Amino acid sequence: MKAETNSVVSFHYSLTDEAGEPIENSHEREPMSILLGAGNIIPGLESAMTGREAGDRFDVTVTPEQAYGERRDGFTQRVPKKYFELAQRLKPGMTTLLKTQDGSQRMVVVMKIGQSVIDVDLNHPMAGKTLNFAVEILDVRVASEEEIAHGHAHAEGGHQH
Ligand SMILES: [Zn+2]
Repeated sequence: MKAETNSVVSFHYSLTDEAGEPIENSHEREPMSILLGAGNIIPGLESAMTGREAGDRFDVTVTPEQAYGERRDGFTQRVPKKYFELAQRLKPGMTTLLKTQDGSQRMVVVMKIGQSVIDVDLNHPMAGKTLNFAVEILDVRVASEEEIAHGHAHAEGGHQH
């Protein structure tokens, strides 16, 4: 079947930046499985998956607008250390997760570490980057009602989160 909204798509990918430098890939781990149309992955990759089927391989270039957005200058914040797990291990340039007031988490880049506060860049580490994906579709199937209700794919053998 061809991938469409509410399909579960399993795939491997390699991600490189504009210069062809590798950023990450899924080949050393389990394939990624997503519920198409639920925003599990960046919009540019989601639209490139639509209409594909198992065995398809393709390359897609995704602009920042279709990925993690443009970088915003001065999008920084001074945050008390207590909001970081493992604050004592952080160094400038490192990427870490920061808990936000609504209880979710966001990726930030550490800029400067003070006595009791840490300055962070709130831009997503991949903001402003054009991303090149090489994708191999492994499987496309119809999502279960439970998966659609949850807004994500479940592993084989049921609910595992
Ligand atoms: Zn679930």
